[in-house]
Amino acid sequence: MELSRRDFLKASGAGAGGFFLYSILKQDKAIALPKQLPLKKKIGERTTICPYCGVGCSVIMAVKDRKIINLEGDPDSPINEGSLCPKGASLYQVANSEERLTTVKHRAAGAVGWADIDWDDAITSIAAKIKATRDNNFIEIDSSGNTVNRIEAIASIGSAFPNSEEAYLMSKMLRALGLVYIENEARICVSSAVAADGETVGRGPMSNHWIDLGNSDCIMVIGGNMAETFPIAFKWATRAKEKGAKLIHIDPRFTRTSAKADLYASVRPGTDIAFIGGIIRYVIDDMEANPSNYNMTYVKEYTNASFLVHPDFTGPADSLDGLFSGWDGSKYDKKTWAYQSDATQPDKIKKDATLTDPSCVFQLLKKHFARYTDDKVVEITGTDKATFRQICQTYAATGQIGKAGAIVFSSSACQRSTGTQTVRSFGILQLLLGNMGVAGGGLDGITGAVNGLGCTLQGLVNHWGPGAGSVRPASSSEQSFSAYGKNKAQFASILKAWYGDTDHNTSFNYLPKRDGDYSWQPLFKAIDDGAIKGLICWGMNPAVSGPSSAAARQALGKLEWMLVIDLWETETAAFWKPEAGANPANIGAEVFLLPAAHSLEKEGSVCNTCRWNQWRYQGADPPGEARSDLWIIDKLMLKLKELYTGQTEKNAEAITNLTWDYGNPPDVHKVAKEMNGYDLSTGKLLSSPGNLKDDGTTTCGNWLWCGMYTEEGNMAARRGTADPSGIGLFPSWGWAWPLNRRIMYNRASVDLDGKPWDDAHPVISWDGTSWAGDVADGGASPVSQGGGYPFIMKPEGRGHLFGSGRPDGPFPEHYEPWESPVSNPMSSQQNNPAIEVWETIAKGTVADYPIVATTHRVVEHMHTGAITRRLPWLVQMMPEMFVEMSRELAAENGIANGDTVIVESARGSMTGKAVVTARLKPYQVNSTKVHYISLPWNWGYMGLSKGDSANRLTPRIGDPNSGIPEFRAFLCNVRRG
Ligand code: SF4
Repeated sequence: MELSRRDFLKASGAGAGGFFLYSILKQDKAIALPKQLPLKKKIGERTTICPYCGVGCSVIMAVKDRKIINLEGDPDSPINEGSLCPKGASLYQVANSEERLTTVKHRAAGAVGWADIDWDDAITSIAAKIKATRDNNFIEIDSSGNTVNRIEAIASIGSAFPNSEEAYLMSKMLRALGLVYIENEARICVSSAVAADGETVGRGPMSNHWIDLGNSDCIMVIGGNMAETFPIAFKWATRAKEKGAKLIHIDPRFTRTSAKADLYASVRPGTDIAFIGGIIRYVIDDMEANPSNYNMTYVKEYTNASFLVHPDFTGPADSLDGLFSGWDGSKYDKKTWAYQSDATQPDKIKKDATLTDPSCVFQLLKKHFARYTDDKVVEITGTDKATFRQICQTYAATGQIGKAGAIVFSSSACQRSTGTQTVRSFGILQLLLGNMGVAGGGLDGITGAVNGLGCTLQGLVNHWGPGAGSVRPASSSEQSFSAYGKNKAQFASILKAWYGDTDHNTSFNYLPKRDGDYSWQPLFKAIDDGAIKGLICWGMNPAVSGPSSAAARQALGKLEWMLVIDLWETETAAFWKPEAGANPANIGAEVFLLPAAHSLEKEGSVCNTCRWNQWRYQGADPPGEARSDLWIIDKLMLKLKELYTGQTEKNAEAITNLTWDYGNPPDVHKVAKEMNGYDLSTGKLLSSPGNLKDDGTTTCGNWLWCGMYTEEGNMAARRGTADPSGIGLFPSWGWAWPLNRRIMYNRASVDLDGKPWDDAHPVISWDGTSWAGDVADGGASPVSQGGGYPFIMKPEGRGHLFGSGRPDGPFPEHYEPWESPVSNPMSSQQNNPAIEVWETIAKGTVADYPIVATTHRVVEHMHTGAITRRLPWLVQMMPEMFVEMSRELAAENGIANGDTVIVESARGSMTGKAVVTARLKPYQVNSTKVHYISLPWNWGYMGLSKGDSANRLTPRIGDPNSGIPEFRAFLCNVRRG
């Protein structure tokens, strides 16, 4: 690590400054603060990445005697430039907390308390339990006769916080064991955005990056409170504003983001599709009236606007009353959603370059959104008409050539039964305005946790292997490696990394094959049904974070065993205790609680939400017996290999033949190199996924990470602060997948000849023989020279205004949330027709639950608060669970500010402190006045600050594309307690 930061932060100066700061902030006697720093002795420095949110702020740790004595923002980081939000600034208390777990704990069936055990006993017992459960329930052949080699009786959830190398090993171990119930936080956070963006532009993650927001002419934050949930990233929005950009905020609550916005629109929870639909209608009308104000070449060439769709395609605009053609009562038959093809050339899609054919996508789009008039938008959303109109005009102005607008959103846009279509509407708007691929543009969906993206892309979701490769469902045609299709080189290289010289077809059969939905909500149903016997929970806290959390907690009692790996005794680890309302004597689940090292105490890479991988160094030793996830996974896998040695049945070779040699203790660099991959013919590390082969001569644990750890060294550890681009790409700071590309789809930032649309902010440009600037997306020459189109992950290279891949429609349509106090003003189709309801659950009626509830986070607490509610500084700043409500609702229900209130839904009830505020206002939907409240979901029954989880109230239903729960709009009632 080389630091080049300002002199005053060097060594002793940093320590002195830190001590002064602690003296000011000292507020709690329980915290052991350094009495005096040995200023004359050398204080070591390490950098790390803040372990909380997906912004990826760099932090400097001052280290003395393997302890952290100060933490502060890293001024060299181009992302945070030395600043930290309250969570990052409180990391000192994590490093020195006396609340941390320091011993391995075991709770026997029916026991009332924990007993300490040693690591050897714990690993031996856990491995034996995994083996017994696996062997007793292993499925080798499914009912159709396919080899599936899977185990459905063990599930794993987690996480979004370990280093990518740890997540990779976790994924490797779990899949070798045959697990299919593998989920992590991304499922319940932003999974619908992945489905949406995959459909629209080809890839799920944020297309641009934080610094690039500073290049924007207009930033629209919708479905999120960026100033509070991603505060340091918000700095780049305000930086753009200082340069003259407009900031728009659309949200049910007036928040700190709204306070900074030029334009704020209040919308009823769950109605964003109508709001954006209205903007799309405005843009299309204006585009036809004033085409010179828009980049029509982009629309015609880089989107599927000109493609002709089957002449029988119809939709809600054709009197189908909220549905598209092909609905059979339970699902869509998509025959009429196909493109028209040339009779003589079936592979060639028919197009109309004039965009006037009634069957072309542009005309279908126009017809569909024509119904979202200003009045209809106001009726559905309850927003102010004049403000809506101003927002239409302001954002549509980004459609001019040379202008750029960014849409920023996070989980509140995603956590809905229409989450995917909501995000689809954002993408459609961005494509129409030519805002994809350009500097200052983009679809910027934010992952909430520090390594949500990195962990998910190591395969910690049930349907993806490492690198987001499909874990294919079993079928007779897919029972061999040779059927793996176009990604064969990637998959062959994983198999080679995992199973060495074993024949590809054999190792392909080792891996489990899915045959159903193994996502979060079916997983908890399977626990409740008793089908899952053992649960491994890595740094996740579903007793607080999942929908209907009280029911989820009760379901945990049906497990035979549970393994929790965490820094603290979380609500999930303690689900059997009286604090959880349980009687331990009645709960037979055996629980192991393993003390984990914090990120400050280990080394490895994390991938922020912009795809930037940055290396974290170890600052301190873990306390007591705490160990890194890497160490725990390694020990567990080695013990399992030992137990399976000599066994042949139950697909034991998948375990015994698994490559596993990372040293003792395991070397994280070895893991990172395995992820990157080798050319076996030379023994050298690969530099690009383009070099992968399907013939067994390359290894690569994760093709997306190929290029991060090359013969030139560890690219994630780079700290170069040069910006030759002049637009903030900082190509030598860390490493972005894929291929260190900083702005995805960047070949849409140039015209057909490769010349940037915006000369002032060129992302790439064609010099006649090659591309200059960012790493070109796809690398082909410009379109006019025969190169492919810019959205390379889509079959035709075009962004999809019309998207036939989703189960709930090719265009977004407004449907009411599953629970709503009003009838859908658009059609008699009240809810998303394809909504996922996995089980019979209580649905609230307006008569009993007339108030809409939504949930949110606060800046001081991270997610379930498992960490932050243990830290006195943060607890003092945000001490207790509260319920935000309007003055009007409080007056109607006789509630005063500060009263204890009870909130009830059809699933349960909770209490909190009333916060009566003018920031919330009731909505008027036709003759119905709609009240709503907002609940932070950061509380639970453990920690320094205890409170009810808002998720006790939320329903177990989900978006049909991703299964993400509808946390953001449901019915409740509220009264004084
Ligand atoms: Fe930065 Fe997020 Fe950490 Fe705050 S919580 S310091 S915004 S990474």
